[in-house]
Amino acid sequence: MLPEPSSLLEARGLVREFDLPGRGLFGPRKFLTAVSDVSFAIRRGEILGLVGESGSGKTTIGRMVMRLLDPTRGQVFFDGFDLTALKGRQLRQQRRRFQMVFQDPYASLNPRMRVGEIVGEPLLIHDLAHSPAERRERVARLFERVGLSSHDLDRYPREFSGGGRQRVGIARAIACSPDLLVADEPIASLDLSIGAQIINLFASLNETERMSILFISHDLSVVRYLSDRVVVLYRGRAVESGPTPEVLTNPAHPYTRLLVGRDQAVPVEPRNGESVSSGLCPFLSRCPDALPVCREVAPEHFVNDGGGRDVVCHLAARQVLWTPSSSSPSIQGIV
Ligand code: SF4
Repeated sequence: MLPEPSSLLEARGLVREFDLPGRGLFGPRKFLTAVSDVSFAIRRGEILGLVGESGSGKTTIGRMVMRLLDPTRGQVFFDGFDLTALKGRQLRQQRRRFQMVFQDPYASLNPRMRVGEIVGEPLLIHDLAHSPAERRERVARLFERVGLSSHDLDRYPREFSGGGRQRVGIARAIACSPDLLVADEPIASLDLSIGAQIINLFASLNETERMSILFISHDLSVVRYLSDRVVVLYRGRAVESGPTPEVLTNPAHPYTRLLVGRDQAVPVEPRNGESVSSGLCPFLSRCPDALPVCREVAPEHFVNDGGGRDVVCHLAARQVLWTPSSSSPSIQGIV
């Protein structure tokens, strides 16, 4: 199946398993499934929020999109290229077009390099400046764009605050004018006012450059402000997706209702003694709306009339708004 022409990035059926210790020489493989059959797409110039609690698989998905981690199964298409099949020079050529902003900017910046060198490194690697002077000039312009001063070029990462370091990380990520930024909890370690400045910076990059952004966060207020569409993850599975205002204002999945704080009846932790049987709804042990069928059959994808929303829940089958989906979730929603 070819990728959707309107999308910049498509993730199809992503699965990621991690091996667990304890396998004997001939014993069965023990593994943890961190991500299970997740599909989504990002249009050009769109911001897609990826939300869910800690351990829901958000970061693992971001790392697979960036090809920092290979999926166990599934594919990632970027501008028509099957990223999961690219290697060596072909992958390096595409890599300048998708960049990542990390949660902990300090850990991602080489403490022995001056920040001007750090930001200029991608320009050097991809041969995007004709001379050291031109490179420095371009880095100075990048610093201005992210709210730093050209006087900061020769300082070291340790001389910056958390917000300053995150700006350096963003300057490095946008140095090659990527088409897609993957931002993994980029304000989680920052205080409120600095975090707000960084969020405004993302909004401005999206608006002025039409840069697509995969924004990974557990903070719904930020996702509500920034993203056009949202995918809600629970235990490595996408349980609901659609336009952000609709999903967060009128959530269809019981877990999304829990996340937005509209349904206090949902327990925060799984109930004692209950576990999720493999293949059934992952939210079963916490769901206040569970139906008898939920204990027998895995829920399928349902889409709304316009096709822009997708929910994986038996409850949806009982409501006229929703009909069974005939194609991939989220991907269908962007056509
Ligand atoms: Fe609850 Fe059943 Fe929907 Fe799962 S499928 S969220 S258990 S109603």
